[in-house]
Amino acid sequence: MKEYKTEIIKIDESLISDKNIDSLKQHPALEKAAELLQKGELVAFPTETVYGLGADATRLEAIKKIYQAKGRPQDNPLIVHIADLQELDKLVKGDLNLPAEKLIKAFWPGPLTIVVDKKETIPAATTAGLDSVAIRMPAHPLTRAIIEKTGLPIAAPSANKSGAPSPTRAAHVYADLQGRLPLILDGGPARVGLESTVVDVRKERVRILRPGGVSREEIREVIGDYLYEAQGADEGLENSSTVERPLSPGMKYRHYSPQTPLYIIEDEDFLEGLLHSNLQENTALVLSDEWASKYQSSLKGIKVINMGPRKRPDLIAAGIFQLLRYLDTLSLDRAYIEAIPENGIGEAIMNRIRKASSRE
Ligand code: AMP
Ligand code: MG
Repeated sequence: MKEYKTEIIKIDESLISDKNIDSLKQHPALEKAAELLQKGELVAFPTETVYGLGADATRLEAIKKIYQAKGRPQDNPLIVHIADLQELDKLVKGDLNLPAEKLIKAFWPGPLTIVVDKKETIPAATTAGLDSVAIRMPAHPLTRAIIEKTGLPIAAPSANKSGAPSPTRAAHVYADLQGRLPLILDGGPARVGLESTVVDVRKERVRILRPGGVSREEIREVIGDYLYEAQGADEGLENSSTVERPLSPGMKYRHYSPQTPLYIIEDEDFLEGLLHSNLQENTALVLSDEWASKYQSSLKGIKVINMGPRKRPDLIAAGIFQLLRYLDTLSLDRAYIEAIPENGIGEAIMNRIRKASSRE
């Protein structure tokens, strides 16, 4: 693999706004980013979900670089990012159905990815050989400026090493991928902090393949009965490690794995049990503000890490990957993390926490 001297360019956050996309496109850092992307090189940049590792989605050798830099399994397809609805026509084969149109209208630009039948414009390597392609229109003004400036559909998985938690800051990207790409744009922390929700809209009933930044409830509100409501676990999600070709291939990988063995505190009974047991010295508890203060007196002498308020799961989401990375700097023997209610964004948070956890 080619060795790069990775440059990080910080973009003044006061310049990053929806009103400012046109002048952002003139920013020297974006000129540089667009030039690299047009040459088939990799550039990492912030999106509202997590930092992305971008490349020209139509160019085979650029796509190969993504898989190489991340160490990403070849059978895990990429999401293609666009900044303009007109680009959809170039990528999607056939017409979009009604629920797809409603979802696009409600959630784009934003943290929702739709899986559709693909046209030939997108090489098989981008979609890991599938005849479908996942497409998203991000909301982050910097991401939009980059895509517009290149005039290309940009494939961009999370800019972490495969197996590590997704990056929500430029420093996380640098820690994982330094030397493997020429440029990282730093636009400050990602607002949502979790990846996009992936939905398959190829059939009349829409399936959620991966929970993410847009919640199931929000989707249901927009498409009602068009949402496929799974009994028990969703196909594409929990079951996908057992089927040969899961609906969303990426979901079979454990990823988001901290090195620290992580166990879930499913409820308060479990927490109370833990507090009455002899917790080993090199153990930490990751707790919400509410539980940390409720159990304050029993927590003396125990290392507690705060995950934020239960009543603000959006804040927990924004910090969870950073927290997982932080855990690994503490050389703990194990950590326990509180489960939060699985509604709204809580479903996506718990999906990532379960993937990060060690099962006994
Ligand atoms: P990442 O960009 O690393 O957050 O991962 C992208 C996610 O989208 C993975 O879970 C992929 O399996 C999923 N994905 C991408 N393309 C497709 C597709 N054509 N069909 C189903 N899932 C997809
Ligand atoms: Mg990822």
